[in-house]
Amino acid sequence: MSALGEPWSTGASRDGEGSLHVAGVDVRALAAEHGTPAYVLDEADLRERARAYRQAFEAAFAAIGAGVDVYYAGKAFLSVAVARWVHAEGLRVDTSTGGELAVALRAGVPGEHVGLHGNNKSDAEIARALAAGVGRIIVDSLPEVERVATAARAAGGAPAPVMVRVTTGVHAGGHEFISTAHEDQKFGLSLAAGEGEADSPAMTALLAAVASPDVELLGIHSHIGSQILDASGFEVAAAKVLALRAELAERTGVLVPEVDLGGGYGIAYLPGEVALDPERVARDVAASVAAAAHELGTPLPRFSIEPGRAIVGPAGLTLYTVGTVKPVRLDDGRVRTYVAVDGGMSDNIRPALYGADYHAELAGRRSTAEPVLARVVGKHCESGDIVVHEVMLPGDVRAGDLLAVAATGAYGRSMASNYNMVPRPPVVAVADGGTRVLVRRETEDDLLALDQG
Ligand SMILES: *Cc1c(COP(=O)(O)O)cnc(C)c1O
Repeated sequence: MSALGEPWSTGASRDGEGSLHVAGVDVRALAAEHGTPAYVLDEADLRERARAYRQAFEAAFAAIGAGVDVYYAGKAFLSVAVARWVHAEGLRVDTSTGGELAVALRAGVPGEHVGLHGNNKSDAEIARALAAGVGRIIVDSLPEVERVATAARAAGGAPAPVMVRVTTGVHAGGHEFISTAHEDQKFGLSLAAGEGEADSPAMTALLAAVASPDVELLGIHSHIGSQILDASGFEVAAAKVLALRAELAERTGVLVPEVDLGGGYGIAYLPGEVALDPERVARDVAASVAAAAHELGTPLPRFSIEPGRAIVGPAGLTLYTVGTVKPVRLDDGRVRTYVAVDGGMSDNIRPALYGADYHAELAGRRSTAEPVLARVVGKHCESGDIVVHEVMLPGDVRAGDLLAVAATGAYGRSMASNYNMVPRPPVVAVADGGTRVLVRRETEDDLLALDQG
């Protein structure tokens, strides 16, 4: 057995015949039992990443005298078991819809450890969150302050705990961040006042929250992007949020107790890529916020972060069976081998949606055939139905081969669709040599059950 390393989960290895194993389970046996395509989730890997993020941030922030909570961003992938695992590892759960909230609650995550996001929450979602006693509702617009206050009044309970989501102008993803004053996006409230406006939209919403007896303003929230591989964007955004907090305190006497720095911690998708190291980013961000708060002369708030992809992405792979293999001659004379698998854009939309790159390997056998330039495609009626744009695969890749695509745990199943009336694959957890179905495969009967004829 030899371990594979990134971008595969820590439990991935190959046996003497070249077959891929995850957590002691041979993917040939897994495919025989559960079919393909299937999402395979390495439980120990996921739990270890959850623990690593919590411990890294707790240690780094304790060193500057601040507390920190880690919320798992459930939109990356949420099921009852995953919510239980991350909660058992000391994380809380962020949800962004009533559906995600329902999963977290079904898992038994206590309401006070759940957050509710969303730029367009329904009244029903807000009411349900309040009834569940969620720890925080992240308010995303000025009217929402009043809507949450009204719902809290109607519920007759305590004031609703809220954070106000702001846009700092910092956008990060990859190694660079950019900074703009005015943001052209639907999320959050800008820190920049428009011409002729006394206050920024962010400050206006914060003042409204302070003034309302029916909401309890916990703090300020900022989320700057995704697949971030460097701490600098977080540091710049955090400094802006801390400055806003100090300004609010100066104007109202209310120093809000919490600041959330959002998610977006980057992972390795391809061999040779290096994930953001939680210990390093925690140390860098902690040092930076300590310096910023010191300069402002304000005590540090309690912090929170919201990693999603970094917890579940590397823990997952997708197992496919190869069907049609078709060599296609390119204009430059090269040949590209199109390798079609039994899934595609319905189980992984990210290549089509973002041009995202993935890595694939033959999973069920070893091959000594000369590698060829390949493109892994799906079975959908769409030429953009690409799973892996470019990868070298053994030249004898053929129908019936198992193919594994690495690091599909985040935003794979959670963004899956039924395009072309394809049933969505199951999520099969592996641990200690055994498998457990977390989400079963959809069937044609499931699809037809919705059709009223
Ligand atoms: C998407 C999102 C996250 C998680 O992002 P990852 O890239 O999966 O870490 C966290 N917080 C908010 C507000 C988000 O929208």
